[in-house]
Amino acid sequence: MKKKERKIGKKNKIDFVSLVAHQLKTSLSAMKLSFQMLLNGDFGALNQEQKDIIEKLHQRNNMLIHSVNDLLNMIRIEDKGYFYHFDRVDIEDLINSIIIFSQEELKRKKIIFQFEKPIVKLPKIMLDKEKICLAIQNIFDNSIKYTPLGGQITISLKNDNKNLEIKIQDSGIGIPDSQKKNIFEKFFRGSNAVKAQTIGSGLGLFITKEIIESHQGKIWFESKENKGSTFFITIPIKTKGD
Ligand code: ADP
Repeated sequence: MKKKERKIGKKNKIDFVSLVAHQLKTSLSAMKLSFQMLLNGDFGALNQEQKDIIEKLHQRNNMLIHSVNDLLNMIRIEDKGYFYHFDRVDIEDLINSIIIFSQEELKRKKIIFQFEKPIVKLPKIMLDKEKICLAIQNIFDNSIKYTPLGGQITISLKNDNKNLEIKIQDSGIGIPDSQKKNIFEKFFRGSNAVKAQTIGSGLGLFITKEIIESHQGKIWFESKENKGSTFFITIPIKTKGD
């Protein structure tokens, strides 16, 4: 009896957190739209000072949307588990769309960016497009977030016919040696990351690892504090469903 009560309590908690997160997301999305309209000059031209303030609010709002999305994804994983839908995906196109999505932020931070891809285009491979997009975006967003102005980021895509390898290298703040073991834990944020970037959920890498491992893949990193980090993802290549 007691056990059952505890279980119901946990479910209510999950439902409540999920409800609040959805309400937050709706409000933040409405704010995002208003900030975009203001920046586009839809309500009249802004002076430089007004523009700078709205741009900062817009960035913070985007980070909060990211954190709320992380929370909703974590709830999904912990509650019922993700449902995966595999299809044939052009990974190069997928990475290109992720880069386009972050173009503005790369420009704003004056980051020297490169995408190194194989000379011969990869065949379409079996992936859950939406989830893999989220996983790569999480790593790429982190590299942008934790790389100071004027830094460098390189994404490289390789395959050895068995595995697809995606490498995302940055010249950012790096990960302190003593905290490397905690990096994929739920809600964990590095001490230097908290100092550099006040907004973050500590959930992005937890979600990313779940997605990559559900594709029978691997994720790991190499990092040196104040020098940079490189995240590696490998996924076995399957061109047909089985
Ligand atoms: P968040 O970025 O919201 O804090 P994540 O789960 O995405 O959460 O990352 C967990 C932690 O891993 C970060 O707080 C940071 O300490 C560290 N980290 C991840 N990627 C990088 C990176 N590219 N450079 C430096 N630190 C990183």
